[in-house]
Amino acid sequence: QESDVRPVPAAGPAAAPRPEPEFQWAAFWAMLRPQLLALSAAVVLALGAALLNVQIPVLLGQLVDVVARGARTHMEGYLRAARPPALRLLGLYSLQALLTFGYIALLSRVGEQVAASMRKALFVSLLRQDVAFFDAHRTGQLVARLTADVQEFKSSFKLIISQGLRSSTQAAGCVVSLYLLSPRLTVLLLLVLPALVGAGATLGSVLRALSRQAQEQVAKATGVADEVLGNVRTVRAFAMEEQLYCAEAERSSGMSQRLGLGIAAFQGLSNLALNGIVLGTIFVGGSLMAGDQLSPGDLMSFLVASQTVQRSLANISILFGQVVRGLSAGARVFEFMTLEPQVPLRGGGTIPSHSLLGHIAFKNVSFSYPTRPGHPVLQDFSLTLPPGETVAIVGPSGGGKSTVAALLERFYEPTEGSITLDGRDIASLDPSWLRGRVIGFISQEPVLFGTTIMENIRFGKPGASDEEVFAAARMADADGFIRAFPDGYGTVVGERGAALSGGQRQRVALARALLKAPAVLLLDEATSALDAEAERAVQAALEKAARGRTVLLIAHRLSTVRGANRIVVLAGGRVAEVGTHEELLRRGGLYAQLMRQQAAPGPQHPRGE
Ligand code: ADP
Repeated sequence: QESDVRPVPAAGPAAAPRPEPEFQWAAFWAMLRPQLLALSAAVVLALGAALLNVQIPVLLGQLVDVVARGARTHMEGYLRAARPPALRLLGLYSLQALLTFGYIALLSRVGEQVAASMRKALFVSLLRQDVAFFDAHRTGQLVARLTADVQEFKSSFKLIISQGLRSSTQAAGCVVSLYLLSPRLTVLLLLVLPALVGAGATLGSVLRALSRQAQEQVAKATGVADEVLGNVRTVRAFAMEEQLYCAEAERSSGMSQRLGLGIAAFQGLSNLALNGIVLGTIFVGGSLMAGDQLSPGDLMSFLVASQTVQRSLANISILFGQVVRGLSAGARVFEFMTLEPQVPLRGGGTIPSHSLLGHIAFKNVSFSYPTRPGHPVLQDFSLTLPPGETVAIVGPSGGGKSTVAALLERFYEPTEGSITLDGRDIASLDPSWLRGRVIGFISQEPVLFGTTIMENIRFGKPGASDEEVFAAARMADADGFIRAFPDGYGTVVGERGAALSGGQRQRVALARALLKAPAVLLLDEATSALDAEAERAVQAALEKAARGRTVLLIAHRLSTVRGANRIVVLAGGRVAEVGTHEELLRRGGLYAQLMRQQAAPGPQHPRGE
């Protein structure tokens, strides 16, 4: 028998190492365009700040010359001489501070707004995707694109604009000042500096690679912890998980320590290099001063300007890594933002409710899940559901029963064959109308949201009046127990409906489905997670709700399908038998065999874990 274990996405062919997505400049431009004015202003301010920074060393040098001379004269003369350059310098500092404030403030604004519109656009796009898309991507991975990737892209963007502009302007400007101060010293510096910066950049990129590996290892360990903690009930039984996490954590610690060692070496070496340059400059500069080619102020200017060049070049080398990371984070965000689903959420024909019968036919449907293309789940499956009748699908687990329901909801498209509603192919009908107005879907585990019972039911038909909600709840036999709660319909359901019992949850879900007055009810193992008593209560409500509707009842427990007009036994993706309960029993085939198995005492056939 086919195992009922859902394939983990990572094992499916769709999750095979995919090529890195391309960065989509057009999509980025669309996000950036509304911010263009603020961005241009930020660029202008950043350039201004950088140009002022270029002036600072020269003015500092002038001040130092005054100071050097002043030390030999009296106080008054010194003050008179020193005030103008000091004031000029102060003015320059203030203006520079103002510009810095301006461009950083503007740039964060632009960054945040672009990030927010990226998040919103991505989220909206994710919501539109096919169910098959969510089979192929883990939720955590999608959430990471919304959070971490957008964040990374935003910081890179801000950094590249601010640091990139500043550093390149400053480096260029300061090299010019250096040359004006002392061509000879400059040539000397330009010989040494690139070699040092190059060595630093190489070492830096090694460190970044180490850091990335360490981060990936942390993520791996976190993933293990996440999986284990999230499935504590299952994991309880296995001690292996503990060792697994400890081993991953150990490896992660080792990597981080190696990274720490690398950072320490880098810091030590770069300190040595920077101090060496200062020493060398003073040493060589001193000899020029002795030959009267350089004033003390010029030497000071030269020192400060050369430091600026060093810092700028180091920044630029770091920025290269940031550009790569930012682009790939952005590419991951834009990839799903511009992805078009195979089945759009809305669009297509509808059938007016007064002429809607609810006649459903599956015609020679074959299907395999997109994540497992070579593995047929349904083969040449045909089934007719006459209006107002109840048809049950039973069979061994993994036989494809839930898949039939998923196809009718149009979560997936059949690989071959067609499904019709009142003679019209559902592929030509509006999916949101089909799901929202025609089919009421009740699954084994109803999903309730962390809000009031009222809102949870109203979710079936946004805008429904309170009266309609009450009526639907009465039809689902839920009104009684809801009103018995102290807060009645205002009772807030805990996360995933934890404040309600299984049977109550299921009846709230039924009320939600009935609120849209669906012509078709799709019950996928609606009672199989319940105990016998709750099952009876829900069963009664379901039978009442089934009146006058076309019902597709999927069940593993045969006790619930006895009353169906027709029972289809589905095994291995094919229809094995069709008939009423009595007919199938008399026939003595698979159904009769399943009946005997379930009647026998002993463990019920568990649904796959
Ligand atoms: P049943 O409801 O009869 O237990 P299902 O329709 O759930 O059977 O599953 C039929 C087969 O399809 C099984 O082999 C199952 O592993 C596979 N399957 C179900 N859902 C998916 C999915 N989302 N992606 C890939 N395979 C799936």
